[in-house]
Amino acid sequence: MNNIIFDKNLKPVPESKPVLKVRDLNVAFNIPLGQAKILEGVSFDLFPKEILALVGETGSGKSVTARSIVNLIPSRSRETHGHVLFAKKDLLSMSNKDLQRIRGNRISMVFQNPQSSINPVFTLGEQIYRLIRLYLSAEIEDLKQKTRCSRKQAIEIIAKEKLNEVGLTDIKRTLKLYANEISGGMAQRYRIAMTLISSPEILIADEATSALDVTVQAHILKLMKELCKNKQTAILFITHDLGIAAQTCDRVAVMYAGRIVEIAETKMIFSNPLHPYTRGLLKAVPKLGKNESLSFVPGIIPDLVNPPSGCRFHSRCIHAMDICSRQKPKNLTIEDNHDVSCFLYKQ
Ligand code: SF4
Repeated sequence: MNNIIFDKNLKPVPESKPVLKVRDLNVAFNIPLGQAKILEGVSFDLFPKEILALVGETGSGKSVTARSIVNLIPSRSRETHGHVLFAKKDLLSMSNKDLQRIRGNRISMVFQNPQSSINPVFTLGEQIYRLIRLYLSAEIEDLKQKTRCSRKQAIEIIAKEKLNEVGLTDIKRTLKLYANEISGGMAQRYRIAMTLISSPEILIADEATSALDVTVQAHILKLMKELCKNKQTAILFITHDLGIAAQTCDRVAVMYAGRIVEIAETKMIFSNPLHPYTRGLLKAVPKLGKNESLSFVPGIIPDLVNPPSGCRFHSRCIHAMDICSRQKPKNLTIEDNHDVSCFLYKQ
């Protein structure tokens, strides 16, 4: 067992209905060398109030999965099949106009480079005031009545409260700044403040805390957990950091070369990893106080223009058998809410 610190409040898989169902998602890019099959048969559920981690090496398909859900991948050179079911609709077959109404509203995104998702032509103040007018009209009226202030003043007070909540200081000055005038840490806090205002049903956080220093990172993670607990938001949390996944997420889905190879409650993944790739990833996590050389998964992610036949992990797997290069392993439920895709388990 690694020296991973778990959040004691991790929730078991909820019994409620999923807020998002991803089914058999396949994404391929047409590139000069051929067609790269980036995602193959990705399926999972996301439940209200849960944080689901998508983990795996760079190139495993985590970000493409996240961006495909809200159709944020340029379509010219892409082929997508499968279903992404949200609010009884398939997001993959929705028009861009309808999707735009959902994006940033019912499904919000926070990426590693938050500046890119802040409008560069308006000040931070103009953007947050607009959002408050849109989502918090009841709070504005309430505040007006309680303090006898004007509507404009009420909006400014709420904006200051929200920015304070995410730990931003010198707010009067901050509200006058543009996206290119703030640091990455400030921009990420500002994006989270915007998310707190719109209270989306789903938040997709793609390496959202990776570029931040540890103190800011801890604060942002705390805010995300509060959002999940208080506003019922479900969070799809993409990270390459298993320590953060253990501390933050209720369930973990492990991706390898465009497939989900194992998915389970967080404690299950760390205490009883079943897939050889998951075991390899966990062995690569440094252990506190132990002077051991780090283990790693030998080899690299395969070429996805010509992906390996059968199990995509077979060329790196120390348990590979004949069948592994001939057939694709099916997804099996081994124990409660613990699925794995591997021939080591009865197919
Ligand atoms: Fe290894 Fe075979 Fe399992 Fe793939 S299916 S992980 S190659 S044992």
